[in-house]
Amino acid sequence: MKYDKIVIGAGSAGAVLASRLSEDPECSVLLLEAGPDYPKFEELPSDLKHGWGTGPDIVVGGIHDWQYTGIASKLSKAMPVPRGKVTGGTSAINGQVFLRPLPEDFERWAEWGNDRWSFEECLPYLRKIETDLDYDGDFHGQNGPILVKRHPLESLTDDQQAFYEACQFLGYPTNLDHNMPDATGVGPYPLNNPDGIRFSTALGYLSQSRHRINLTIRANCVTRKILFDGDKAIGVEVMSGEEIFQVEGKEIILSAGAIATPQILMLSGIGPKESLSQFNIDIVSDLPGVGQNLRDHPTVHTTWQPHSTFNKPEQKIGPQKVALRYTSKDSKYQNDMIMIMRFSHEIGDMGALMISVGIYLADSTGEISLQSDDIGTQPLLDYNLLDQAYDLERLRDGVRLADEIAKAPSFENMVMSRISPTEKVLENNDLLDNWMLENVLTMHHISGTCKMGPSTDKMAVVNQYGSVYGTRHLRLADASILPDCPRANTNVAAMLVGERISDFIKASN
Ligand SMILES: Cc1cc2nc3c(=O)[nH]c(=O)nc-3n(C[C@H](O)[C@H](O)[C@H](O)COP(=O)(O)OP(=O)(O)OC[C@H]3O[C@@H](n4cnc5c(N)ncnc54)[C@H](O)[C@@H]3O)c2cc1C
Repeated sequence: MKYDKIVIGAGSAGAVLASRLSEDPECSVLLLEAGPDYPKFEELPSDLKHGWGTGPDIVVGGIHDWQYTGIASKLSKAMPVPRGKVTGGTSAINGQVFLRPLPEDFERWAEWGNDRWSFEECLPYLRKIETDLDYDGDFHGQNGPILVKRHPLESLTDDQQAFYEACQFLGYPTNLDHNMPDATGVGPYPLNNPDGIRFSTALGYLSQSRHRINLTIRANCVTRKILFDGDKAIGVEVMSGEEIFQVEGKEIILSAGAIATPQILMLSGIGPKESLSQFNIDIVSDLPGVGQNLRDHPTVHTTWQPHSTFNKPEQKIGPQKVALRYTSKDSKYQNDMIMIMRFSHEIGDMGALMISVGIYLADSTGEISLQSDDIGTQPLLDYNLLDQAYDLERLRDGVRLADEIAKAPSFENMVMSRISPTEKVLENNDLLDNWMLENVLTMHHISGTCKMGPSTDKMAVVNQYGSVYGTRHLRLADASILPDCPRANTNVAAMLVGERISDFIKASN
């Protein structure tokens, strides 16, 4: 059997892509997923159905998580890197913040030679993804598969309410809809978590397309590599159970996410020649950009001990409800910073009030490289966060701003004492830089590891239609092709890639 399209990975982008491509009944689509599939809502395990366990002490783990580890910075220890291993991919285990990239993000990508990714071109697709249950109008969608809602302000926990008021006290604008193009300031996060249910792409998209005869979903199938005839992709090698199969396809679309996509490419002979030759992998296309340009949002958690009278939020609190998006002092980038109020039950006897500070548009880049020619061995994830002085500078200011927020009147009866960083560290730039480098973590938004760009950009891996340079009949569609991390959490951007590339494929047929 030869499929018209084989999509590898049923995640944020892959599930969207397979659903859209199979809208054409003449097009046979095989969707391969390494993790399990839960076709019936009633059988969806609670860790996927509900948005618990995505707080500061992310407890994803289990069979639905690839459980990678990565190196955050030159001074940090190994950090956990969760990624979804199930239909829905990382959208099935994530924090459900439903935030669009800024118009300025799209404009940068367009300026870098990807003119089909301007805000004007992408807005209809952003609307197509969502049904916004709070807002209508030119900027919001009403018919998309993913349901979006903001929690009412009355439902904020005491610490979130104090944070909301403190940001207003310090002069930040109130922003009730973070998905408006010019939004900035403090306000409720849009969340794909209506009625406490995590609306993954498996729930939103696959549940509406899985009945199609021309869409075959095969779960628990690990793709080992892409098969080529010269430079033409002709199929995939898949492990199902203990057996290896070869499946033929007229076009292959790799949507395995920003970690597995470069890994599978390299194992298939596409990547930096020198690295691949170390593993005796035959070269199909020598592309130095595969695995480079690792982009993410670095974050540090600053903590305070609460008073004994503080009303602790419940442990199963669900997704983050309120956030401050702001522009760092004299920054060349709008909304380059993010701050979130959380409560950690894991720190000390009392738990800790926690303000997480992150950079939404960092300058530092990391890399992914093979450690083995076995698909079962994770690649080396070197995030190299806070490598650039400008990132350190902005995060330093952010940590000090978090301190100002915690000293605002709304926190007066809540905060007892500072835990981390200590006063001494906070006052000294060098000590604070060291503290940040030791404690920095990923915000889980890894992107850019197979970036799109024009053929003149030697580090580009795909063109703006997702086609892999130096090959035929092979495209990529997931967060790996983003040229940079957007100034937003990355699930919407990944779904957008699925929507956009599926339309490019339909147009080229
Ligand atoms: C803990 C956590 C919290 C997050 N919170 C948010 C949030 O609140 N809001 C937000 O916008 N973003 C959030 N993100 C990030 C966001 O969810 C991801 O950026 C996005 O889902 C990535 O989509 P993708 O399509 O690129 O990859 P994925 O969704 O990861 O999809 C890749 C798929 O490919 C499959 N796959 C991989 N290798 C193979 C193989 N060899 N064979 C077959 N299948 C394979 C995987 O199992 C997976 O299903 C979070 C991420 C994490 C980890």
